[in-house]
Amino acid sequence: MKGYQVLESSPKLAAIQQDMLKNWKQEKVFERSVHNGQAEEIVFYDGPPFPTGIPHHGTVLVSFIKDLIARYHTMKGYSVPRVWGWDCHGLPIETQAEKALGIDSKTEIERSIGIGKFNDACYDIVSKNNETWREYVDQMARWVDYDGAYKTMNFSYMESVMWAFKQCYDKGLIYRNYRVTPYCCRCETSLSISDTRESDSTRPRQDRWIITKFKTDDMIDGKQVYFLAWTTTPWTLPSNLCLAVGEKLDYAYVEVEGEVFVACKATLSHFPKIFGKKPVILRECKGADLVGKTYEPLFPYFADKAAEGAFRVVTADYVGSEEGVGIVHTAPAFGEDDYWTCRNHKIPMVNPVDEKGHFTKEVTDFYTDTDAKTVIEMNPTVIRFLYDNGKAVADGTIEHNYPHCWRCREPLIYKAMDAWYLDIEKLKPRLIQLNNEQVNWIPESVKDSRFGKWLENARDWNISRNRYWSTPIPIWECPECGERVVLGSQAEIEERSGKHLDNLHRQYVDEVTFPCKCGATMHRVPEVLDCWFESGCVPFAQKHYPFENKEWFESHFPCDFIVEYTGQIRCWFYYLHVLSTALFDRPAFKNGVVHGTILAKDGKKLSKSSKNYTDPMELMKRFGTDAFRLYLYQTNAMLIGDLLFDEAGILDAYQQLVLPFWNACNFFISYANADGFEPKQGLPKSDNQRDRWVLAKLEATEKTITENMNGYRVNRYVDVLASMVDGLTNWYIRRSRKRFWASGYSADKAAAYDTLYYVLVNLTKLFAPVAPIIAEKIYRNLTGEESVHLAAWPKVPET
Ligand SMILES: [Zn+2]
Ligand SMILES: [Zn+2]
Repeated sequence: MKGYQVLESSPKLAAIQQDMLKNWKQEKVFERSVHNGQAEEIVFYDGPPFPTGIPHHGTVLVSFIKDLIARYHTMKGYSVPRVWGWDCHGLPIETQAEKALGIDSKTEIERSIGIGKFNDACYDIVSKNNETWREYVDQMARWVDYDGAYKTMNFSYMESVMWAFKQCYDKGLIYRNYRVTPYCCRCETSLSISDTRESDSTRPRQDRWIITKFKTDDMIDGKQVYFLAWTTTPWTLPSNLCLAVGEKLDYAYVEVEGEVFVACKATLSHFPKIFGKKPVILRECKGADLVGKTYEPLFPYFADKAAEGAFRVVTADYVGSEEGVGIVHTAPAFGEDDYWTCRNHKIPMVNPVDEKGHFTKEVTDFYTDTDAKTVIEMNPTVIRFLYDNGKAVADGTIEHNYPHCWRCREPLIYKAMDAWYLDIEKLKPRLIQLNNEQVNWIPESVKDSRFGKWLENARDWNISRNRYWSTPIPIWECPECGERVVLGSQAEIEERSGKHLDNLHRQYVDEVTFPCKCGATMHRVPEVLDCWFESGCVPFAQKHYPFENKEWFESHFPCDFIVEYTGQIRCWFYYLHVLSTALFDRPAFKNGVVHGTILAKDGKKLSKSSKNYTDPMELMKRFGTDAFRLYLYQTNAMLIGDLLFDEAGILDAYQQLVLPFWNACNFFISYANADGFEPKQGLPKSDNQRDRWVLAKLEATEKTITENMNGYRVNRYVDVLASMVDGLTNWYIRRSRKRFWASGYSADKAAAYDTLYYVLVNLTKLFAPVAPIIAEKIYRNLTGEESVHLAAWPKVPET
């Protein structure tokens, strides 16, 4: 008997960690845990980060939870492959490429650089930055196949995405339409509604509001009558085509300095400077009475549209009296409500703003061909012009929440344009049903609240982007007869065009043309896919399904679990659910584990610029990953709460959990070595009450953790474990010490040894998923076996 290695008095986690990481790598413990014979697979999808992103506290938290679940199931006897992924495409990379190339517009990309060179620059950026992540992944002790990562820019991945697009198209789920969509003038692309909900995309912004007067055909006692309207987007006034009122609201004709203003009665008191403290009301009516009244165009540019029914009052149910004057200026191309109001009332469309967000030539007073400003920048000019022409009544500033481009941070506009949509309305009943019936959410409330509500209110998804670095939309169109062909694989492209492609990016796919039935040449449409479409394809595209791995995929879908933070409920969880419903009529995941957000100690957002946090890498190296994990696992961020991060919590976890556990092992080792203890197999038999108590406690602990973990409920794990450690050290060992001190090797002493050893070995296994390094260190010492992570999960029998 060689005895146990005597432990240092308190564990230096950081040093143990570096040793253990090296050791695991050399012995390929992770690889062996995945390839463990014929074990059944637990399938897990790892959400792909942008390779240019920087790992942060959120990365650490989500990694710890993913790792915990995977380690648990591995010990339960499953094979849990964990493949890393990279979200390589999209605007974040494109903006970096623009910087690297020293350019700032699409014109430069298309005219001077060329799409090929631009995409090559994107490729270079994406190919470089992965080493920071590797170091984090290593130091987190996160087991993952990092080198085998799937990449959304790989040929195989993109081919599966094209296949998915074609499937959706063939099912009648994809259409092109002219609709109002969020639009970034700098990036020159439409965005989806979800993009405007990315973390802090919608944030406070100060804007000028203005009240303008629209001259009517009415006079009262020789005084001219005007409609008033309030807006925070003065740049849309040149495109005004109608005014909307609330059918049942009360309106007043108010005399003001020899003129008569019409506004919603309830709003008069909001603007004493216009209407006076005691408004002189000449006449009152309902909104319905105003319908059909006409007015003079504010600007002359589209005056001819009067013949088509423009410049009149209509009703709309969203008009209220809370904001403005209860009459809503309506420009069909620049707001979703505006668009539908005009369509419903057969008012024509005007859209005098170009791709760069500049006024077009029609808007003669504001158009310029040199140094043009975006329409948002033109607001002050428009306001000044209206005052100069006696058409403005009042103005002021307002701070409101306004959507910004999640990438370049410029304010967005809403603009009508052609875009490709995925028909969510058509899928909606099934999306809701599959969520209700087949998805297990942790915490449970997500099903009905956050995800359920999001599904109910979901709208058709704009899947097209007017950009370059993404999977091209694989539709070819004939400019002559309008014929459309959708190609869903390289083979189909080759069959049609005779061209063999081994790269599916725009510079190659755009070159693919072929003759139409009518004799003209078919070209690909210019748009690329929203990157969320690509990440929604992770389940099958990472396996190049259906071109490869067909059998495997069909027997391993949906996956067993996904772990992401609350923000992904409306993003990745949602897009996965949409595409798997559309393509396979199944959910994408059986268990959706959602965690919360980490904030600074003072409740503010963690931010690099305000330096209100310590880099998690530094914390891991200073305190050891295990202590870091044990702290986070006990917080409300494991459910969907916000955690106010406090470094002291890491030290607490060390002192409350790691140290007592370590000391208990140390206690055992020093006596066991002295007494030449030899371990026995199986549950120790003892009549001693304390032995029976501690074994029962161990059994209860194992049972609770097992039950929770089988249901993916990760939040109570460490609390349960802590109670066991407390019982073991503060109750059992403290009161059983004398039994180990006794001389000789009595039956009672043997029972004490057997019990303590049994408890420690099993407790070590229970520690393994949540404190993988320290558990490994102790397990190897106590058992002489290779790895606790290759050991079976304990099943403690009842005593
Ligand atoms: Zn932008
Ligand atoms: Zn044709």
